[in-house]
Formats: sequence, structure tokens, C-alpha cells
Amino acid sequence: MIKAITGTKDILPADMPKWNYLEFIVKKTMESFNYKEIRTPVFEETSLFARGIGEATDIVSKEMYTFLDRSETSITLKPEMTASVVRALIEHSLDKKQSLNKLFYISPMFRQEKPQAGRLRQFHQFGAEALGFDSPALDAEMIIIPYQILKRIGLNHLSVKINSLGVPESREVYKTKLRGFLDDKFSRLSDESKKRYDINILRIFDSKDEGDQEIMKDAPLLIDYLDDASLNHFMEVKSALDNAGIPYQVDPKLVRGLDYYTNTTFEVISGSVGSQSALCGGGRYNLLAQEIGGAPIPGVGFAAGIERILLACANENTIAIPEEKIDLYVVLLDKSLSAKAYGLSLKFREKGIITDTDYALRSVKAQMREANKYNSRFVLFFGGDEYKNGEFVLKNMADGTETKININCIDKIFAIIKGA
Ligand code: AMP
Repeated sequence: MIKAITGTKDILPADMPKWNYLEFIVKKTMESFNYKEIRTPVFEETSLFARGIGEATDIVSKEMYTFLDRSETSITLKPEMTASVVRALIEHSLDKKQSLNKLFYISPMFRQEKPQAGRLRQFHQFGAEALGFDSPALDAEMIIIPYQILKRIGLNHLSVKINSLGVPESREVYKTKLRGFLDDKFSRLSDESKKRYDINILRIFDSKDEGDQEIMKDAPLLIDYLDDASLNHFMEVKSALDNAGIPYQVDPKLVRGLDYYTNTTFEVISGSVGSQSALCGGGRYNLLAQEIGGAPIPGVGFAAGIERILLACANENTIAIPEEKIDLYVVLLDKSLSAKAYGLSLKFREKGIITDTDYALRSVKAQMREANKYNSRFVLFFGGDEYKNGEFVLKNMADGTETKININCIDKIFAIIKGA
């Protein structure tokens, strides 16, 4: 038996109402902030992510699904969306058409991580990118939007962490300080952190190793080395969040995995989902457009994980989906009429009436069982003596009443079903 690949999940029809509900809230909220939807291909040239996200990041160094296609081009399934959105923006000169592009997306992503609860190899994110201005109001908006969405779907145990990574110049000064601090402690670091010391020293703050965490307790903090402009930017982001009534904590150790961040970084954490608790993350990336070959375009964005959010919703019992119903089930009483019954079903569907019928010439009992399984509000009996007398029988399944309707008056059936 062939099964789905480890770390991937089927989203079954029973799951879909929750997905649709969340996506509906996402679209409504994005619309209210005037963000426009963008869709990009599932795969891109590998160099886009290698250059955009950074060779030293976990994503690029060990998590990407990369392969050579038949023409020997190195292809990667997108592990995140920002690089693709920026590529599309530059490729289609969207930045020339509008000084600020506010874009959102809902898309699958692919990372070869170790699967566990809330961590998949194909997962889905919604997110937004605002490209064009270096405004702290936009940084704040990238926190306000997902916070509003999470609140709207009823989540409560949320916390927002923010930090500023400043600009590369001040970061380099700080990295030298951090190296100096760690020099005489290097031998006590975990193997993973020893590697990070050379290639991505800030990420040592992310280490789960207790020994590393003990060492890093006293480490100098990047926030104390920020240049004045970055510090001002950060203060304005904080005051925009204050104005919006979003509670947050400054976490000077929040470095996040991606190389392209400048200034603000943030995460929204849930207290309801266990160890994989980040529902959403993001930050400002003023250097990314240049990094992938475009003009400098300041940008800021966020990405939120749909599976993790739905897990938090399940744990907090927030999304109550009404039981699914259909409007009408056409029960076939006479097999020779099946083509006609099918044609009649089409007429109901054209009117927007959710209609199903029998496709297997089954017994009336089996058809009624199916109508009940679908929670059909009405059943139309097609055939039998009534049909010979020129009538359909329409049964209201809620109260059991039956109405006879002339077969030439199907408008009457539409009216009853729509009016009920
Ligand atoms: P990132 O792009 O790594 O900043 O991730 C943003 C959000 O996407 C996270 O906060 C998670 O909610 C979600 N996410 C990231 N990686 C995974 C994964 N492997 N499986 C499920 N969700 C993920």
C-alpha cells in the first residue's frame, strides 16, 4: 500500500470547513488592510533561496527540497514565500507601478525537517509582505494583522515577542563582541552551537541545549549595540503597537533563522500547542531585493503556519463549524428515469440549490440512507405513481411533510426550498 510521504498530510473533506473558515478570515482581514493576493509557483531556481534566505541558515543548509530537473537546472520547492514574492515584484516591475505594494498569500511550503506535532515537511502558510517604504507603521501592521486574525478565530493564549536586529554594520560590531564573549567558553558549547559560532553566531541564542542556554544568559545583547536610526525605528514600532493595543514583550534574544532581516523581528507564540509554539514570525528585510538582483526596496512581512494555528484552535476549542447540510437529494424511484433525474438535478444546481442524487441505481432505502448521511433538508421522489400522474413528491426532512408538485412547476420547488 503506497502511503503519503512522512511529514505530509492529507487535508480530508472533514478538515476543510476549518481550513476554509481560517482562509476566509485571512482574506477578509487582508482586504480590510487593502492587501492584494499574490500566487507564485511552487518551485523556483535554487539560487533564489540560497541568495535570498542565506546559505548559512538552517533552511538553506539542511531543509530544502532541492533537485536537478531533466534539463539539469537546480530546482527547489519553496520553503518560504518572501524571496518568491520579492522576485515576482522585481520581475514584473510592480515597484515601478506603485510606490508601496501590499501583498498577501496563502500557499504550501516545503522543508525537510524532522516531523513532529506542528512540524511538517509540507505545511501551509498565510502571510503578507509590504514592499516600498521603511515605515515603522508597516512593521507594526505585520504584527497587528496576524494578531487580529488569530483573535478573530478565537485564540486566547497568545504572546507577541519583538526584537530589533539593527543594520548589518552595527550587527557586525556586535558579532565581534559576541565572539569575544564566547572565545573562552567555546569548548563548552554544544556541537551545533560550535558550528553556528562560525557560520551564524546569532543563532546560538536559539539553541535548545541547556549548557548553551546557561552560557548565553550573560551574553552581550544586540539591542545594546543598535545604531541610533535602528533604535528610533524600534521605538516607533513599539509605540505603534501600543496605539493598536497589542500586548508584546521585547525579547532581545529573538534572532530568528533567516539571514535577511534588518531592524524588526517578531514572533507570535501560542501557549496551547506544545513545543512548536510559534504560530507566526516575520520581520523587516530591507536588503533582500538587492540580494536577489533588484534595486533596493525596503520590505517587511510575516508568515503564519496554518496547521499550527488549527492545532491551537483545536486545543482551545475555538472554531465551531456548523454541521454540513445539502438542500436536496433527488431519489430515483424508477431506474429508467435516471437520465431525466440527473437533468433535473442540474436545474436545481443552476439555481444555487445544493443537490445530490443517486449515481448507482440503488434501492430507495439506500438512497434515503444517503440523503440522511448528507443531512439533506429536502428529498424529491422522482418516479412511481405520482410521476405517472404528472407530479413530484417533495419531502421536508425536518418535519416529514410531503408536498405534491406538478412536474411542470419546478419553480414552485425552488421557492419552497429557498424559502424554507
Ligand atoms: P518561518 O517561515 O520559519 O518564520 O515560519 C513561520 C511560521 O510557519 C511558523 O511560526 C510556523 O507556524 C510555521 N512553520 C514553519 N515551519 C513549519 C513546519 N515545518 N511545519 C509546520 N509549520 C511550520
